[in-house]
Amino acid sequence: MSERLDETVALVTGASSGIGAATARELAGLGARVALVARRGDRLAALAEELPGEALVIEADVTDEAAARAAVAQAVERFGRLDTVIANAGVMLLGPVEGAPVEEWQRMVNVNLLGLLYTAHAALPHLLEAASGPPREVADLVLISSVAGRVTRNGSAVYNLTKHGVGAFGDALRQEVTGRHVRVSVMEPGATDTELPGHNRPEVLKNLQGRFSGVERLLAEDIADAIGYVVTRPRRVAVNEVLIRPTEQEG
Ligand code: NDP
Repeated sequence: MSERLDETVALVTGASSGIGAATARELAGLGARVALVARRGDRLAALAEELPGEALVIEADVTDEAAARAAVAQAVERFGRLDTVIANAGVMLLGPVEGAPVEEWQRMVNVNLLGLLYTAHAALPHLLEAASGPPREVADLVLISSVAGRVTRNGSAVYNLTKHGVGAFGDALRQEVTGRHVRVSVMEPGATDTELPGHNRPEVLKNLQGRFSGVERLLAEDIADAIGYVVTRPRRVAVNEVLIRPTEQEG
């Protein structure tokens, strides 16, 4: 009962790599015109070239409120509407709280929470508008959380804090707008093979590699596929939450 996204417009933050890039491909393949948002404009331009439909490159840092708002405005100005938003941009900087570089916490709170909030806030009026008429009479806001938004782990405290926050925000916002047919969905991926761990300090990275040794990780395309499922449900069906781990990942 999958629907297509023809004549709709999507915006993906963090589209320059990993899950965001794979999701932009997925949504374009489903027929959406896609606005690609991230800081690395060269990556976005290369992705835009390979997408089957129309794409718009928006080089923006979502932690800058004005830039996040301008990104949404630019997409609407270019394509005339906004039906699907994937708030995906995120960073994961792990390690013990004791002695942690506080700058890493600031980066995570800024990107994972404030960046997502600015994007959602700017997009909401457009999603409500899209949901009120054709072609689909429904709109989607997909928030990318993590397994770390469901369970905590020693060494992930602040990442856990940000991703639990995404889940809490998503479920409260869902109740606010679901009656008007804007579906808010929270995606919770497990270990996925992307650039995400690469921003960690070497000692943290070593620990992380040890933790998932022997686990066949998910591909970014696996998450994109799940997002594609969520946003192509008929109007009456809202997939509120998706927890998706590699088969071999226990916790
Ligand atoms: P990547 O590092 O490959 O992608 C992260 C994306 O976020 C990049 O496109 C990056 O673009 C963008 N980004 C980071 N900071 C900013 C910013 N300030 N403004 C705009 N864009 C920004 O990792 P993933 O694809 O894995 O991560 C995507 C999401 O998935 C994150 O929210 C992550 O927490 C979540 N996740 C990932 C898991 C995994 O195992 N990989 C598991 C669970 C959740 P650029 O640097 O060009 O700005």
